[in-house]
Amino acid sequence: MLLPPCEHCKIATSITLLCKNCAQELALVNPPSGSEALDSLDIAFRYEGGVRTWILDIKDRFHSERWKELIAAYLPTALFERRYDFIIPVTSDPQSNRLRGFDPSFVLAKRLSRLLSVPFKAPVFHRSDFPLPRKAMKHDIGEWMLSKCVGLNSVAAGELSSTSRILLVDDVFTTGSTMNVHARLLRGLVGQVHGFCVALKV
Ligand SMILES: [Zn+2]
Repeated sequence: MLLPPCEHCKIATSITLLCKNCAQELALVNPPSGSEALDSLDIAFRYEGGVRTWILDIKDRFHSERWKELIAAYLPTALFERRYDFIIPVTSDPQSNRLRGFDPSFVLAKRLSRLLSVPFKAPVFHRSDFPLPRKAMKHDIGEWMLSKCVGLNSVAAGELSSTSRILLVDDVFTTGSTMNVHARLLRGLVGQVHGFCVALKV
């Protein structure tokens, strides 16, 4: 059987998303420090080349099954060393989710739950549509605006305890707004809030 080419170099064949060299080349060495709302932040890759096309294929061409190509070898070792009680996805824009038929962070969090053997918990958050058409807001919709759209689902949140260690999960880290808004809602409710994103977009 012929192996598919690596998503990044397109030269080496690889049973995984990236060949070994490209996985090393794209790995993020120094993640940003995160924010006061997070106890730690880990990010696997830089949002470039094969990693970018992979994530766009999932989010823009609706191939949610491609999150299966995220494997344990791509994850920062810290994720295996820290102990989490629950993995919780951040919310994505509801309009985009309706178009896709799935929530990318939700599917990603389920994949991580398998890889890390940590229980998945959702829906801890709810999110409403932005009050303005998305196009009018460009990409940076701002932390304040987002905070007005995201809230806690009292039933699921009520099942968390003050000692719970949470891993919040998102696909792409850009300004940190999404992570901050969700992490702040959990502050005071749980013991620790850690963050993980697949890729850093600068
Ligand atoms: Zn490669």
